[in-house]
Amino acid sequence: MLALAERNVPRYTSYPTTPHFSAAVGEAVYAEWLSALPEAATLSLYIHVPYCTHLCLFCGCHTKAVRQTSPIERYAERLIDEIMLLGAVASRRKLVHLHWGGGTPSILGEKRLAAIIDRIGAVFDLSALREHAIELDPRRMSKQFARALAGIGVNRASLGVQDFSLEVQKAIGRVQPYGQVADAASWLRAAGIENINIDLMYGLPRQTAADAARSAALAASLSPQRLALFGYAHVPWLKRHQQLIAEASLPGPLQRLEQAEIASGTLQLAGYVAIGLDHFARPDDSLAEAARTGRLRRNFQGYTTDDADALAGLGASAISKLPQGFVQNAVDIAGYSRAIEAGRFASVRGIVLSPEDRLRGHIIERLMCDLAVDLNEVASERDFSTEIEALRPLQDQGLVESEGRHIAVTERGRPFLRLAAAAFDAYLPANQARHSIAV
Ligand code: SF4
Repeated sequence: MLALAERNVPRYTSYPTTPHFSAAVGEAVYAEWLSALPEAATLSLYIHVPYCTHLCLFCGCHTKAVRQTSPIERYAERLIDEIMLLGAVASRRKLVHLHWGGGTPSILGEKRLAAIIDRIGAVFDLSALREHAIELDPRRMSKQFARALAGIGVNRASLGVQDFSLEVQKAIGRVQPYGQVADAASWLRAAGIENINIDLMYGLPRQTAADAARSAALAASLSPQRLALFGYAHVPWLKRHQQLIAEASLPGPLQRLEQAEIASGTLQLAGYVAIGLDHFARPDDSLAEAARTGRLRRNFQGYTTDDADALAGLGASAISKLPQGFVQNAVDIAGYSRAIEAGRFASVRGIVLSPEDRLRGHIIERLMCDLAVDLNEVASERDFSTEIEALRPLQDQGLVESEGRHIAVTERGRPFLRLAAAAFDAYLPANQARHSIAV
């Protein structure tokens, strides 16, 4: 089982995964795909803000540290320009989900956030907007800012916590006492933002199973609607700042597995329902409801109830998903800004989905969301004997069960879910070493 836990596999927030995007899909293709969206198509927006005041050592996001406000000001202007570009080809579409991610989106400040929302409102139809979510750093919150967020219509906020132990927080370069997180949650609630998510992590430097359990219990005591429990992905060859984390301070695969299990058990004892690979929700939450009814989806932000026809990603590195395929903006802020300033989309790579990609993508998404898939239902005429054979090591360990062509990941197998999905990934063998470990 430990050998399985150490295998390198993608997180499957998309299929095909981003290493398989190519420059063949760029701005012209993106514009064509957008303009082909039917008038009645629903749309989601993801807005990426790639700036933070400091870099946390564990961070795996596309972001950079910035001290001055001028780059942030310029970036906010480019976002507004990009909204106008989007509006020129897909205006008045109904927006159903809006998500601010980063980085630290709140670094934009109240006025710039409001200006961007005003422009979105001028370009799109917001009458059906169900969810307006933002990722927040509890260290950068205030009562007034919580009210400002409510004022622009935010109705869900994710607080990044990771772990409450001071030892661990020092080791990851991000010290934020429990009181700071509790204050952020209460200010958000007082402002009317009731839907609060908390992000936790296991596998962090100096973290123990006791830390993971205590952090889960403290997080649950704040009564968020949802929690996420991510495994720290140590990929210093991709994220240079992670080189500052000593390998010797990292828990091994057995410890990671224990931490994941104990934190998950703590959250479930506190009344949360386990969802997919790494999410937890109150039983009455819409994510839990979607999981119960087979309507859970997985996208670049993780598990979601978002069922829009298309997702447009705004900002550097943001990925869009259209019926035809995926397309990603330039990751570097300068390249992104140059393209937008020149009046072009900043799309630099992507992939056109083939029928085979769609089929495998569907199987992988259902496994990641439902922990089960019936191959007879999704593709009765296809022979998946090689893939079923690839699941045998998981079956031998009791992590996967199959009955005919119905495949189910067991409760014990939940932490290994990415491995079950990987059996259906036709692109994986060539790129296996580039991903983080499975558990
Ligand atoms: S973890 Fe969040 S706050 Fe820290 S560097 Fe990454 S994006 Fe910024």
